[in-house]
Amino acid sequence: MAPTPNGSVDYPFCAAPDDGGALAVAPGVLWIRLTLPFQLDHINVWALDGGDSGWTLVDTGLGDRRTREVWDGLLATVLAGKPVERVVVTHFHPDHIGAADWLVERTGADFATSLTEWLVARMLCGGNTPAMEAAAERFYRRSGLDAETQAAVRDRAGSYARGVPGVPATLTRLRAGDLLNVGSTSWRVIGGAGHTAEPVSLYDAANGVLIPGDQILPRISPNISVWPAEPDADPLADYLASLDAWSELPADTLVLPSHGLPFRGLHGRAADLTDHHAARLEEIVPFCAMPQTAAAVMRRLFDRPLDTHQTVFAMGEAIAHLNHLIRRGALLRNTGPDGIDLYRRGAGQGAVTTR
Ligand SMILES: [Zn+2]
Repeated sequence: MAPTPNGSVDYPFCAAPDDGGALAVAPGVLWIRLTLPFQLDHINVWALDGGDSGWTLVDTGLGDRRTREVWDGLLATVLAGKPVERVVVTHFHPDHIGAADWLVERTGADFATSLTEWLVARMLCGGNTPAMEAAAERFYRRSGLDAETQAAVRDRAGSYARGVPGVPATLTRLRAGDLLNVGSTSWRVIGGAGHTAEPVSLYDAANGVLIPGDQILPRISPNISVWPAEPDADPLADYLASLDAWSELPADTLVLPSHGLPFRGLHGRAADLTDHHAARLEEIVPFCAMPQTAAAVMRRLFDRPLDTHQTVFAMGEAIAHLNHLIRRGALLRNTGPDGIDLYRRGAGQGAVTTR
């Protein structure tokens, strides 16, 4: 994730609700903010008021004690008097799904997300098998990182279960196009991919409100990464297609993102993010006139000191751009005798454009 220019967005709310509080931001929608112990220090989650049938909570925060205490407070105050009907998570990342299992147990709510997000969460929360560890070892060795950073990054990348102590055992599966009725409001499930494989976004057409999870954010670019389990994936192609698809929604849609402030300016923001990735792709191709490792490309794209957590995401993001350029024929990849991948410009390939 990196800060990107965002001159195209307006923020109708200038301040977030306090920890443990809630703010009405759209008809039947409460904004709740939960603290995260990372550089990205908060997540926004949403409580949708279904009237007599109860609340639908969208995203849950980490599965830690502090988050559970905040939910206990919310359930006793702003959410009191009505049951929690359903917990929806937008995707499998720990800050979104971490407290879902506990909330579902605590409230008796139904649990809903896409099949892929649920399966990935269930897989990762079981910890890594030796084969998964070996795949991660190979993946980071091929990247050209030094041995010490490789070990630190592997350790960090395998830490999913720390933020996700459990994942609900049963699922109500959400698919793109489904309608989720919350009281008298119909939220349409919007698909897409890129930040993860099958994230869930919710759109209320009647009120012009979108809950996109991390698929679009107002200030930082959502992380688009390749991971050891699918080393040749091209998630950037999926993400760029998803950015294009936001043009189907009205320009004045109120966007309720998982990080940062609610905003208007969906089309301009999608264009900013498309341009951000285009600029990175255009920077990488000439840089690879001389063969480069993924680690060298990462340092070129993220020209600042990175801690281990940031290195995991920066490396995933660098490889996502490299894989996308290979897929387009702009780069070639060869594995050297030392097992390290080298990327070089493909013969006769010129400019890369994304639009
Ligand atoms: Zn995420």
